[in-house]
Amino acid sequence: MNTCAPRAAEKTSDFASLPLPPATLANLQRLGYTRMTPIQAASLPLALAGKDLIAQAKTGSGKTAAFALALLANLNPRRFAVQSLVLCPTRELADQVTQEVRRLARAEDHIKVLTLCGGSPMRGQLASLEHGAHIVVGTPGRIMDHLARGSLALDALNTLVLDEADRMLDMGFHDDIASVARQCPKQRQTLLFSATYPEGIAKLAAAFLREPQTVTVAEQPSATQIRQVFFEVREDERLHAVSLLLNHHRPVSTLAFCNTKQQCRNLVDVLKAQGFAALELHGDLDQRDRDQVLVQFANRSASVLVATDIAARGLDIAELEAVINVDVTPEPATHTHRIGRTGRVDAEGWAFSLSSLDEMGRVGQIEHALGFTSQWQPLAALTPATREPLRPPMATLQIAGGRKEKIRPGDVLGALTKDLGYAATQIGKINVNEFSTYVAVERGIAGEVLKKLSAARVKGKSVKVRLLEG
Ligand code: ADP
Ligand code: MG
Repeated sequence: MNTCAPRAAEKTSDFASLPLPPATLANLQRLGYTRMTPIQAASLPLALAGKDLIAQAKTGSGKTAAFALALLANLNPRRFAVQSLVLCPTRELADQVTQEVRRLARAEDHIKVLTLCGGSPMRGQLASLEHGAHIVVGTPGRIMDHLARGSLALDALNTLVLDEADRMLDMGFHDDIASVARQCPKQRQTLLFSATYPEGIAKLAAAFLREPQTVTVAEQPSATQIRQVFFEVREDERLHAVSLLLNHHRPVSTLAFCNTKQQCRNLVDVLKAQGFAALELHGDLDQRDRDQVLVQFANRSASVLVATDIAARGLDIAELEAVINVDVTPEPATHTHRIGRTGRVDAEGWAFSLSSLDEMGRVGQIEHALGFTSQWQPLAALTPATREPLRPPMATLQIAGGRKEKIRPGDVLGALTKDLGYAATQIGKINVNEFSTYVAVERGIAGEVLKKLSAARVKGKSVKVRLLEG
């Protein structure tokens, strides 16, 4: 590891102030991480100095990179054994962490990151474990299973991360976490990350961290980053007000929060009937459908994602232009969580709230709790910006076959650019899931790409492709 650059006296947000190898700094540049987020600036100097940490900051504040850079710094790529373990509450979050760790690990050659979660077949995981890995990311239950079977060895482990620790406790994983932690070597660095700081966290930390340092970045949706506007609505105009907002402000990606599942369903019906590409995220979706909805929204082929607070918990969706509070929440803290989804890292965002007269008391509580005065606009101020309907810029093609078939994003990109002659700029995100691959393409060429790709080959094989509605 290279030596530390001379330290400025005050806290700096420059990654170059950290003792990181030049290749890692160059990779961060490539990823567009031009400066540290506040939680990264607060935690990385301590984590890279080997300290145990309790780090708390809201969702979307860049906690993953804060622990990923630390565990990568502890890693010896030439030692082919599990050296870091990251525990996450859900498979979805574990997948997101795995992707971020892989992106950050690109600076080094051949670092293997393995995801081990429930819901995926054991057989594949056992085979992967036999091939070995440097970093394991997984859910507590499945990690326990592997430890019990002896298929996962932790004797070379040097870093244990508890990610979204509050949520893991909520989900009843305390005993599993404790059991996994006890099976890790005593000599290790333990990093605990959490969006909130409930009582259970302190107990967990006292049991499994050594002289931990605590870093907290207070939740302050800053006025300059999030522009909050309230609208008074009658019940019978509430859902229509959402389409007025969309047509007026024309955000590319909007997350709309409702208080109930039924309201979500009603809103999606109204938006779809008006021609919007709207998707619903609810608890009844099976994992595959949920993944598909999230992929379509994140790759910008759906304009609106409608969700309850529970369904949206822990989601990381970057670049949200707008959040709409379709109903006012009775919980001021929930309001903060909702609007904190927009205006993240560097981008500015809108937070719109629709309130009936009956909900004014709730608005008052929110103002009081968050210490601001709400700004109101009349619905009549919302006039469509153009007559063109709001359409998402991209569309999603689903290719049958994914990780199981050893498809990689490069295979799909190669087929589209080298074989079919499309420009890389016409292609968006490519997500390879276990059984499916999703590729976003410019909406205008989607039909044509569908036809050509169906007749072409990916990895030397013909593929089944379909265009997802959205
Ligand atoms: P959290 O775990 O705190 O909810 P994430 O780690 O998922 O947040 O990060 C949220 C988003 O911010 C991700 O899309 C990530 O790629 C991006 N991000 C993280 N750090 C930076 C940075 N320093 N500069 C720009 N974007 C960043
Ligand atoms: Mg996180």
